[in-house]
Amino acid sequence: MSGFDKYHLSDQAKIVTDFVPGLESRKLLAEQEKLESNNRSYPRGIPLAFDLAKGSILQDVDGNQFIDFTSNCGVFNLGHNNEDILSGLKIMDGKISQAVDFPTPTKISFLKSLLEALPESLKGKCKVNFGGPSGSDAVEAAIKLARINKKRHSIIAFQGGYHGMTMGALSVTSKLSHRKDAPPLIPGVHFLPYCSSYRCPFTQGNLGCQKECLKYFKHVLENPHSGVDKPAAIIIEPIQGEGGTYIPPKGWLEEITKIAHDNDILVIFDEVQSGFYRTGKLFSFEHTEAVPDIITMSKGVGGMGFSLSLIIYKKELDIWEPGTHIGTFRGNQLAMAAGEIALRLVKDQNIEKHVEDLGGNMFERLKSIECESLCIGEVRGRGLMFGIEYVKDKISKEPFPEMATEVKKKCYENGLIVEVGGYYNNVVRFLPPLITTEIIAKNGLNIFERANNLAEQKITKLGKAIG
Ligand code: PMP
Repeated sequence: MSGFDKYHLSDQAKIVTDFVPGLESRKLLAEQEKLESNNRSYPRGIPLAFDLAKGSILQDVDGNQFIDFTSNCGVFNLGHNNEDILSGLKIMDGKISQAVDFPTPTKISFLKSLLEALPESLKGKCKVNFGGPSGSDAVEAAIKLARINKKRHSIIAFQGGYHGMTMGALSVTSKLSHRKDAPPLIPGVHFLPYCSSYRCPFTQGNLGCQKECLKYFKHVLENPHSGVDKPAAIIIEPIQGEGGTYIPPKGWLEEITKIAHDNDILVIFDEVQSGFYRTGKLFSFEHTEAVPDIITMSKGVGGMGFSLSLIIYKKELDIWEPGTHIGTFRGNQLAMAAGEIALRLVKDQNIEKHVEDLGGNMFERLKSIECESLCIGEVRGRGLMFGIEYVKDKISKEPFPEMATEVKKKCYENGLIVEVGGYYNNVVRFLPPLITTEIIAKNGLNIFERANNLAEQKITKLGKAIG
């Protein structure tokens, strides 16, 4: 027993309709189609209309209950409607709720708690900047601050990286389908390979990949004919999230950081998704020895889904003029109060340890599913951040996006919500709330295993029929 049982609506999925989506979901989806932009995307892959949410359980408008392995894009790290955060927020009754960048007792207290939670390598050395409410805005701020400091405009980003949808953030995001309707993006951005041994562009295997990626990085920075203007900064996810949960091998992030610093280039770690204890530590880079200059945060930091984004950076970089990066919604007091309560709960409830233990158990179970599966090429995970990569053949590693899509469908039809991402849309991704209990995780994984088997049967049958 983890003591987290009280947070959840239930500990299992419950499908009460004859088919999913049920009639009420279908009605709302049809109305939505008439009223809302063609731009909407999630309900195309998961055609459901949700109504209630508590802990790791979502309920749709037909009364079906689903286990949520997404935390709404990694936002509800402490679960939906966390009752301790909700009751703690009573102190906000009557207090100012938006205050641009005025100081308030709520903000100062949140800032102190956040800075106190920093790893030793950064404690006492950093300041915080709030901006617009999204992760993309934190990325914009980080790039701007780096450029101002180094008086250079070029930026190095990494293939497979996702940093957001505003123009600066999109410019450092590599996925071509996201970029195709947006040009011209900001100039001076160069993409280098991310060390992902499973899909290394140079070679196979951890050590080979690491060596080649580092050699190429050094070559680009130090060769006078590289064609790449000296950058102000590199921006990198310590674990690539949307790209498919790629976790670089031990030592790579440290080396990349060192090479950048040796060349007078700032290092931005984008922790929007991998931060706020997702991997069992405040930041995922804390699993390494690497120390960045600027960190982006959003998603989980607003405590319970309240919009908040910020950058944390070394004090000596604080040279920008007042008003250089502003935004109407940069003073969301409810989010700061909720964020502070969340930081306290993480410590009081030893959530870091829970993430490590539960993450370890889930990883082991996923590895055993991988062994039995024809189409799972690799399972990757750190803490409660997982990627299950689908391939047509385990040797050639030809991506199998149809299989990932089918698994996702079979999952939601049976009561589990998962996401799909990856370089080739072939990675099923889990970001369950950090307070997920062992029993909920087990029930969710049972659904996943069944979905995987059903999808494999269907696709193999289909293959035989076509063949
Ligand atoms: N950076 C990373 C690593 C992300 O995963 C995301 C969102 N998935 C963003 C930035 C952008 O955040 P937002 O969608 O809030 O703009």
